[in-house]
Amino acid sequence: MTNELRWNPILGEWIIVAAKREKRPWRPNYCPFCPGSEETGEGWRVLVLPNRYPALRVDAEVASSSKDIYCVKPGYGYCEVVIETPMHEGDLCDLSLEHLKEVIDAFSQRYVELGRDPKIKYVFEFRNKGAAIGVSLHHPHSQIYALPFIPPRVKRELDNSRKFYKENGRCLFCRILELEYESKSRILYENADFTVFLPFFAMWPYEVHVYPRRHVQNLPMLTEEERYSLADALKVITKAYNMLFDMNLPYIMAVHQSPTDGGEYKYYHLHIEFYPPNRDANKLKYAAGIEWGAGVFTYDGLPEERAMQLKKAVNKALNDLKKKEGYKALGAMVQS
Ligand code: UDP
Ligand code: ZN
Ligand code: ZN
Ligand code: FE
Repeated sequence: MTNELRWNPILGEWIIVAAKREKRPWRPNYCPFCPGSEETGEGWRVLVLPNRYPALRVDAEVASSSKDIYCVKPGYGYCEVVIETPMHEGDLCDLSLEHLKEVIDAFSQRYVELGRDPKIKYVFEFRNKGAAIGVSLHHPHSQIYALPFIPPRVKRELDNSRKFYKENGRCLFCRILELEYESKSRILYENADFTVFLPFFAMWPYEVHVYPRRHVQNLPMLTEEERYSLADALKVITKAYNMLFDMNLPYIMAVHQSPTDGGEYKYYHLHIEFYPPNRDANKLKYAAGIEWGAGVFTYDGLPEERAMQLKKAVNKALNDLKKKEGYKALGAMVQS
């Protein structure tokens, strides 16, 4: 089975080439993630399994060889799935606070465990939701890619926050939080430890970032209490997303933590980003010509206006969570 990394010498980026992934089931009738299946068994609430069709593996074999500027390396690494609940349907907001905190603990543990492998430079944890995002399985789950390199998007964040730290003696993300608090117009929700906002520089229409207010670099650094606060923030924002257009909103959730390559990343700041593709209930924004072809995002409308819509959705979400499941949120919507 081929799992290799091919270097794009023009962009300076790795591409993961994995032959077996083509064979993964595409929205099958049976659910491999429901309890009682061959792999899942019974008696769990959150289950981490190796991905059966991994893009990366420790016994990776290459099919081609390096030639000149065409560089090839084994696709070394780990791919795992985090099955978040035995329930076949739902979103993060449908999990209890306790349960959602267990998911965060699983992310945290896997980050530590996989990051221990000296060949793993970055543990990337993410969640794909919805057909529009292209999920192959609907059962609520997240994924983990333990990579032998720092992914380029995170690399750019690291480079810019390192530079900011050098020049200003402080954290770029902490500064962003301050600026968002000065304006308040884009802050959607806050609890004791986390702030949820649509950033000034959003690329996707309803992009949302979740920042811990304490300057920490990764999930393992969060206290028990902060993990509950994070669970609360995730529960409220994913609920708000589903209230926004009164439909199940698709999204990508990406966790940005410090690399696991042994370096010092004091200047970095843990955060979670959500990118829903929708512009409204029926229209999607695509990364098309200008976005994908040139790498320049256009934002249709004003971030502050969309933030206002999201604030209303947060309000609705808080009411609905209280009414339907008696959930008392740990924080509150932020008025402009
Ligand atoms: N998968 C698995 N075991 C199975 C069936 C699927 O581990 O029995 C994996 C599959 O390889 C895929 C993931 O589950 O990576 C489902 O991921 P998702 O739908 O989020 O997106 P995909 O990775 O397919 O793009
Ligand atoms: Zn299922
Ligand atoms: Zn910071
Ligand atoms: Fe980020």
